[in-house]
Order: sequence, then C-alpha cells, then structure tokens
Amino acid sequence: MFCPFCRYPDSRVVDSRTSDDGLAIRRRRQCPQCGRRFSTTETASLSVIKRSGIVEPFSREKIVSGVRKACQGRPVSDADLALLAQKVEESIRATGVSQIDANDIGLSILPPLRELDEVAYLRFASVYQGFDSLDDFEAAITLLRVEHDTAATEATADVSRAEVTDAEVTNAEQ
Ligand SMILES: [Zn+2]
Repeated sequence: MFCPFCRYPDSRVVDSRTSDDGLAIRRRRQCPQCGRRFSTTETASLSVIKRSGIVEPFSREKIVSGVRKACQGRPVSDADLALLAQKVEESIRATGVSQIDANDIGLSILPPLRELDEVAYLRFASVYQGFDSLDDFEAAITLLRVEHDTAATEATADVSRAEVTDAEVTNAEQ
C-alpha cells in the first residue's frame, strides 16, 4: 500500500506480530522515501451483505446481540453466547466464502443454538424462519423429538456394542 504520508508506493516491514486472539497480524512499516512509520493490520476478510446492499465486516458482537433476545430468561451465559458466535464464524469461514448474505447467517446460527438451548432455538427459528402458525412450531418440535429419539437409540446401540466387545474379550480369555 502507499505510504499514508507521502504516497510513496512501497514500504518496508520493520516488525510483525500476531494479535492476542490470533485473528490478525499487525505490521509496523517504514517508508523508504520519507522515513515515517505506520502500522497495517491484516485479517482474513469476511464481509456481510445486508439486505440494503450495504457490505460490512462480519461481527461476532452482532451475532451475540441477535441471539441474546431469544435467550432471555434461559440458562445461557455471556460466555455461551461468545462461544456460539465463534462457532458461527468458524462454520462460515470453513465454507471458504469471503462474503455472506446477512440472511444466510441465520442458517449458521441455528445448529449451534439448538445444541445450546432448545427453547432459545425455537424462539430464534420462529422469527428467522417466519413461523406463522402453531403447526410450524409443532413441526419444529416434532423434528427435535425425532432427533432426540434417534440420539437415544444410538446411545443404546453403543452400549450393547460395548457389551458385545466385553463378552468377546471374556470368551477369548477362557
Ligand atoms: Zn512516505
């Protein structure tokens, strides 16, 4: 980039350090033309395209404030919300995109929110997915129940597999 003082088109890096959270690199630079020093920050870009068309940097704080309302009165701490926002950011970055529609962020919020608190999940989903009848709630709750049952069946299957293994070990020893 140009020197911000004299616009000279080159600069020399005199120091590089990673920020405490590891998400940015700060470089101290010196202009070979005028000798003045300035800093640059390098981050992996991730922008959000709002419905209005405005593009702004992805913000974990906005995820937290968006979800906090759905978590009112629920046993969800600030640390839980911070971790949720981190998971959302990681899942979006993992897809390799550098821009995401604001509306699509809701899709990335749903899975970790469901793991965190199912009531908050239903509240958030009802707004985000535009539930407009009891049927919509019922369908979402039925889906949660079905998946609970599946998880319970899998847990039971794991236990019986473990028992089989124990039995095999016992047989082998005899
Ligand atoms: Zn300069």
